[in-house]
Amino acid sequence: AEAPALLEVNNIEVVYNDVILVLRGLSLRVPKGKIVALLGANGAGKSTTLKAISGLLKTEEGEVTRGEVVFDGQRIDGTDPHLIVRRGIFQVMEGRRIVADMTCLENLRLGAFTRSDGDVKRDIDMVYSFFPRLKERTGLAGYLSGGEQQMLAIGRALMARPKLILMDEPSMGLSPLLVKEVFGIIRRLNEELGITILLVEQNARMALSVASYGYVMEGGKVVLDGTAESLSTNEDVKEFYLGGH
Ligand code: ATP
Repeated sequence: AEAPALLEVNNIEVVYNDVILVLRGLSLRVPKGKIVALLGANGAGKSTTLKAISGLLKTEEGEVTRGEVVFDGQRIDGTDPHLIVRRGIFQVMEGRRIVADMTCLENLRLGAFTRSDGDVKRDIDMVYSFFPRLKERTGLAGYLSGGEQQMLAIGRALMARPKLILMDEPSMGLSPLLVKEVFGIIRRLNEELGITILLVEQNARMALSVASYGYVMEGGKVVLDGTAESLSTNEDVKEFYLGGH
């Protein structure tokens, strides 16, 4: 039987600045406990899709003008981003967006800002168990390597105790070795913490190696979807997104 959807995006249209139509009837579904990949060329609308879900669209003069975003059975389109974080969705932005002139630890504490509950200290230890290197880095986050910054950005997301993480291009700017490491961690977050993940990636091969299902976007809508296995053997996907053969 199909796992119940944690997130459902139904036929949304997104407009920037009241004029530029970027998403044109996009639908997708992320089952609880799964990793789903969102693939497509530059400008297809992948980042916009994530921002429509996290509410961050609002901060860029964008708006969902049609359709609906349903999380955990409730409509969230139009909701303020901080309330969406509180409901359990956290977006790890492209380009990482850590605070360069704060320490690692301070950045991690920021991730817990919407929480009133519980044990922040214990969660910091949990983050260090996934990213032991962050514990050793006591200086300013701006001096971390690219890979460490990506890890810090993911660690900060974990501090919010999300049910769903939206990841925008986690492999961007990383060496092949670090890409492998980051994807290994993405898999562990899913398997060990049960976090559901919607993953936007240029590196389709890597994305399909951890995802169970994938969507391919073009021109603001989905043009192809299927199991990760079927997409990785699909001739069109191979030709356009897996660098042939
Ligand atoms: P990339 O991998 O290059 O980020 P993408 O698939 O994530 O591509 P988006 O970033 O969602 O695509 O962009 C989709 C389209 O929306 C592009 O044509 C882009 O120029 C436009 N766009 C993105 N952000 C804005 C904005 N804030 N205002 C106006 N147009 C925007």
